[in-house]
Amino acid sequence: MEKGELLYEGKAKRIFETDDEGVLWAEFKDSATAFDGVKKGTIKKKGVYNATMSAKLFAVLERAGVATHFEKQFDERTLLVRRLEMFPVEIVMRNRVAGSLAKRYGLERGTVLKKPLLEYYLKNDDLHDPMMNRNHVLVLGYMTERTLSHVEAEAAKVNRVLTNYMKDRGLELVDFKLEFGERGRKIYLGDEISPDTCRIWDAATGEVFDKDRFRFDLGEVESHYEEVVRRLTA
Ligand code: UDP
Repeated sequence: MEKGELLYEGKAKRIFETDDEGVLWAEFKDSATAFDGVKKGTIKKKGVYNATMSAKLFAVLERAGVATHFEKQFDERTLLVRRLEMFPVEIVMRNRVAGSLAKRYGLERGTVLKKPLLEYYLKNDDLHDPMMNRNHVLVLGYMTERTLSHVEAEAAKVNRVLTNYMKDRGLELVDFKLEFGERGRKIYLGDEISPDTCRIWDAATGEVFDKDRFRFDLGEVESHYEEVVRRLTA
């Protein structure tokens, strides 16, 4: 597999074409951003941890019947993925109160939700990713009813599979963000699944193993990324 032209550079990844039209080269970077890009920094080896954790969890999901864009891990910070047309919608699933949910509704961090809560955000940096409801997604035309229903069912399945997988490894999945895309009328889970896009706590102690360590200067950021990836790939 040959690396081709740079197609897109985001905050956490560089996406290149390859000699196969249907396959992209996703290179995970060490740069980290938080609070809408206001806080910037570097987490040493983050790209390696995020690529490795994504590869593992995409494989776990594939085995459970979730279609993902993942093909293979090419090197320690590169995944080969299926090329998709991405929907500009971020799907957030929550099991406990944290982050923007705590802030927006004045709720106590850590409160267990009585059922998983699904939210939709428009993926648009200039507009600061505004939250949408289901009607916005449909009426503004970001997804059809058929696509959205499928994505909702897939997100619920991802939550069940990853929650169980993490529980077996002494971890709790608090919340996470997913992005989906389509190719040839089939819908796939895309992007990444990493400590940048999930909140993961130690199941017994509540110790934080995700990007909140960077967001809130909790210290030992690298070692916690390393440890959570170790537990999830062991
Ligand atoms: N998230 C993400 N990208 C975003 C916004 C959120 O990956 O642009 C993830 C975030 O890491 C967390 C979940 O989605 O696991 C819910 O994030 P929240 O809405 O609480 O916002 P945040 O605290 O990131 O501002």
